[in-house]
Amino acid sequence: MSVVVYTESWEGKFKKASFEAVSYAARTASQIGTDVVAVVIGSCSEDLSSLGYYGANQVIHYSNPDFNNFNPKSYASILTDAVNNRSAQGVVLSGSFNGKAIAPLLAIRLKAGLITNVASLPESISPMRVKRGAFSSKGFVVYESKQEKFILSIIPNGIGIVESSVSAQVETNESFSAEANSELVSVNKAKGSIPLPEAEIVVSGGRGLKGPENWNMVEELATVLGAGTACSKPVSDMHWRPHSEHVGQTGIAINPNLYIAIGISGAIQHLAGVSNSRTIVVINSDPEAPFFKAADYGIVGDAFDVVPKLTAALKEFKAQN
Ligand SMILES: Cc1cc2nc3c(=O)[nH]c(=O)nc-3n(C[C@H](O)[C@H](O)[C@H](O)COP(=O)(O)OP(=O)(O)OC[C@H]3O[C@@H](n4cnc5c(N)ncnc54)[C@H](O)[C@@H]3O)c2cc1C
Repeated sequence: MSVVVYTESWEGKFKKASFEAVSYAARTASQIGTDVVAVVIGSCSEDLSSLGYYGANQVIHYSNPDFNNFNPKSYASILTDAVNNRSAQGVVLSGSFNGKAIAPLLAIRLKAGLITNVASLPESISPMRVKRGAFSSKGFVVYESKQEKFILSIIPNGIGIVESSVSAQVETNESFSAEANSELVSVNKAKGSIPLPEAEIVVSGGRGLKGPENWNMVEELATVLGAGTACSKPVSDMHWRPHSEHVGQTGIAINPNLYIAIGISGAIQHLAGVSNSRTIVVINSDPEAPFFKAADYGIVGDAFDVVPKLTAALKEFKAQN
């Protein structure tokens, strides 16, 4: 018996969400009293044994080049193979775009109980009982699986990484093949160097910024912080910013360590996509703006006055440190 964990990489490098998933799987496995098998799919230039730092006992690399592009059906087949070969009790994966696509397919194949949006370590292992985020991240519920096997899809950047010092054995499987029901035809990447779901820091603007011509202020702050840029729905609806930056209930859900909201009122639909951020800073001229209730730090002031000063102060700090 083991716990299998799906790891994701991008352009050959592990994503941070993978370390979090391995670390979560390791802590779950230790509750069960079993080991962790990390599954790496497609080309990866990393030292695979480094997953031992996060608690993986074994790493299986499904290295067939057919798997270099993400395909939910074939990736679900690979994870099913790993689970069956190890008689694993369950699977852990990050609730990323890939994870969300694979998890339901895997649940059907393994006849497993799938719990998504997992927000903490299991409360009980047998039966599997765990707390998950609910009500657009405004509350929690506790779910219990009725199946023998479990699949836990964890909130990215929600639980944190605990380092370990396990020595991971690496095994390569070159021959496994799986039928895909679709194939990648072309790639059209969103502009901006930092993809929002991966960003550690996000600087976001709303209608309070008055027009697209004022976004240089947001971009300058984002550049100083090494942050991704985002916006509220009306901003993208009015084409001030691309739709790929729209965060919220109907946009992208993000989980950065720091979210800076400038001139955004904090409507419930916006909060639904950003309230999993570790720290929220709100800059708004209206002291009654609802966003302040969700903020860790708030600045009541005119964005056109506050943001340039904040950027200048950060530049000065960086120059001195
Ligand atoms: C079904 C549905 C789904 C939706 N999904 C989403 C979603 O996914 N994401 C989303 O964002 N919205 C979504 N909305 C829209 C949401 O309800 C709000 O209308 C929207 O979030 C408001 O955007 P805003 O805060 O940029 O603009 P506003 O509500 O106009 O707020 C602007 C804010 O800027 C402040 N401000 C003004 N001038 C300044 C200044 N000079 N300096 C500092 N602050 C200033 C104001 O005090 C105000 O708080 C959805 C709505 C519906 C009905």
